[in-house]
Amino acid sequence: MSPPQTPGLSLVQKSVVVFSKNYLPMARVNLKRAAVLLVTGQAESLPLDHSRCWQLRSPGLILTVPEQIRLIHTNPERHWKVPPVNRREVLKRDNHTCQYCGSRSALTLDHVLPRSKGGPHSWQNVVTACESCNGKKGDRTPTQAGMVLKTKPKAPAHPAVLFAEQFWQQNSCFTA
Ligand SMILES: [Zn+2]
Repeated sequence: MSPPQTPGLSLVQKSVVVFSKNYLPMARVNLKRAAVLLVTGQAESLPLDHSRCWQLRSPGLILTVPEQIRLIHTNPERHWKVPPVNRREVLKRDNHTCQYCGSRSALTLDHVLPRSKGGPHSWQNVVTACESCNGKKGDRTPTQAGMVLKTKPKAPAHPAVLFAEQFWQQNSCFTA
């Protein structure tokens, strides 16, 4: 088997995983951004046994960028707050998909327990619904309307938490 090829992928399009000061995987950045973090002293190389490195050359400087870097300072993202319940954020959480039928067009917001029945405007009670499903459901609960939610609505997680979950799923050998 030949090694995987990535034709047309320039060096700056390669990506590097950024770990927090506490060694939690946080995000993936491009090589250029990683180089800036290293050169400005905001991050350090985090060499792992099997990691690859890339060499960036510019006049008077050769910079080795590994596949993983670690931030030296405490992560400013820890001040992240749960976003407000609005159309933009709810659609983003629901991946721009109607939570009843999976449609991706004519999207609206639906209160699972209707507001007229005391349903709150909260992450747990607001979902993305297409106009058709919203109209069909009307002023009823999903059960009353005979409709089923694809997922149980909840507040979005911290972006770094989502990234870390994904990272460990893809790199399960690191946990050994
Ligand atoms: Zn729908």
